[in-house]
Parts: sequence; C-alpha cells; structure tokens
Amino acid sequence: MTVTGFSKWIAVAVLAAAMAGNAVAAEKQPDGLPVEHVKRLMQYHDALQKLDDSEQARGIYRSATLWGPNYPKLRVCFFDGSQALRDVVAKVASEWEAENNSIRFDFGKPGKRRSCNLDSDMQIRVSFSKEGYWSHIGQNSVIFAAQNEPSLNLEGFMDIAPSNLSKYAHSTIRHEFGHALGIDHEHQNPAGGCDNEYNWKRVYSYLQGPPNNWPKETIDWNLRQASGEDIQTTKFDRKSVMIYQFPADFYRKGAKSKCFVPDKNTRISGGDRTLIAIMYPSDAASRLASFKETRAKFEAIWKKGDKKTTKGVMFDAVKAFFDNPGTKDAPAQED
Ligand SMILES: [Zn+2]
Repeated sequence: MTVTGFSKWIAVAVLAAAMAGNAVAAEKQPDGLPVEHVKRLMQYHDALQKLDDSEQARGIYRSATLWGPNYPKLRVCFFDGSQALRDVVAKVASEWEAENNSIRFDFGKPGKRRSCNLDSDMQIRVSFSKEGYWSHIGQNSVIFAAQNEPSLNLEGFMDIAPSNLSKYAHSTIRHEFGHALGIDHEHQNPAGGCDNEYNWKRVYSYLQGPPNNWPKETIDWNLRQASGEDIQTTKFDRKSVMIYQFPADFYRKGAKSKCFVPDKNTRISGGDRTLIAIMYPSDAASRLASFKETRAKFEAIWKKGDKKTTKGVMFDAVKAFFDNPGTKDAPAQED
C-alpha cells in the first residue's frame, strides 16, 4: 500500500456500492466530493504544479496532508444523525486506533457525541445528508472545507436504524475514515499495477452511465494509478478496506486478476494497519521527526515560487499544513 499520488489531491473518497442493503441508496454509486470542494483543490493543485511538478515534490505534497503531531487527537463532530447513529460511527471509525499507531479520535462521550458548532475547531465533520460517500484526505478536511461544511459524508445512514446498518455500511465508515486519516485507494497503489488490470472500456462505460454518471475525470481520480514518489509504502494488499470491488468482467483477466476482489472487503486489513502505523507511529519522536522533515522539504519547494505563483494557492500552504495550532493545547469542546 502506498501513500502517494498527486492525483489524490482531488481524491474523492468514495466506496462503490458500499450501501448494499440500504433501500435508499442501494442502486446508486457514490458521487465524489462536492464540485465546489474539487474546484478549490484544483486551484491548489495547479499552483503547486507550477512550483515543482517532480515526482519527489508530488510525494511531499502528498505527505503534507497527514495530520501532524500537533493533533494528538482528531476531533470529530456531526451535522446530523441521532446519538445512536453517531455512537455506531464513533465505534466503527475508532477501529483505526491501535497501540502501534498514534491515531486517536475524540467524538465526545458516548450518548453525547458532538454536534458541529460552527465556532469550534473540528477536524472531521460528518454529515449524513449530502450525496454520496466521501471524505477529504487528511488535513485537506480543514484546509479545503470550512467549519460549516462537512468533510466526510455518509449518505442516507440516517434513514436506517443504527442497529440495522449492514456490514457494508460499516465498511464504508472504515473506508471514509481511512481517507480522513490520509489513506488513498488501494487499487491506485503503484505497487499493485491495477491500471494494467482493469478492462477500462467496461469500467468507463459502467461508471459513466446511469445511475452514476461519473465524468471521465472522476473515474480517473478514483481509479487510475497514483503517481508521485512513494513516501510510505507497503506492498499491494487486496484485502484492504481501501480497495474497490467490481465484478470480474471489469478486469482484463477476470476473476484471475490480482486486483479482483471476490467479496467486498469489510474489515481493516493487516496491510491497512501496517500502513497507518507507518503514517502515524506510536513513538512520538518518530512522528515529530517525519513531520519536521516533510515541513522542511515542503517549505523549500514553497520558497522557490515567486509571489505570483504562490498567490495562485490563495493561502500560505506552509502555515496551513504545518503551523496550525492543532489540538494539542486547546480544550475539547463540550456539547
Ligand atoms: Zn474511497
């Protein structure tokens, strides 16, 4: 598994057919990020490309999206949904936490899961009422989406009794929170070579048609192999909760393809766990060292740009990604 890929700035965090069992959304594939969010990312993407478009730089841009050590906890709030539903989301998403990583979520207490309060500083803002299943990637959640906007959406979950949420709905929670932590799609891992495995004609015709109606660009963002120098890599893992599952005829070798997943992966895999531990080591010094290294490299690239170029970004990216206050000293918000 690889954390890389410039294309993933626009990574729309989606999971195909994840809502099987949900009468409301069962037939519909997810949409990508809302268009206005994509536009912001595109502008940033274009400006960075002008600064430095090398493979190495792309890897650094990608690393910048990881939450820094100034976020010992990631605060999560909900725009809607009952406390019972919020509890399910909190419980399932918290499966990403482990002893060998330093990811810790703060959803508020059970039964008192936080509502989004526009004045407060929340890293992951969950909605159940937008279209599709998606999440911004890592810190993009606070940089490219405002506090009054969701950063992660789980369409239609409010219409299901929380105790009846299917295992696919649970896997969607795991998948989208994986994106919120900064993980890309596993089928886009360069180590997997899935680009050569897909029957692209079939993929395009299926996803471009109703009810999905994905433009080619959206399909490419979500399925094409990521590029950029690898910064953190584990080998291709077809058991990853971050891989798409399609019918066999979506692959040139059918069911024999190494990228074909017979049944949707519903659990966080061993490979996923290895990756998240590399991204967020439990050892505080390691996490800080890697953050500082990324910062120095990013800053060096940023300084290469003249005012005109960096102005295209509309904000100071070094400050935004590396100098934000985080959650280190700020008290957690109470409902
Ligand atoms: Zn996704």
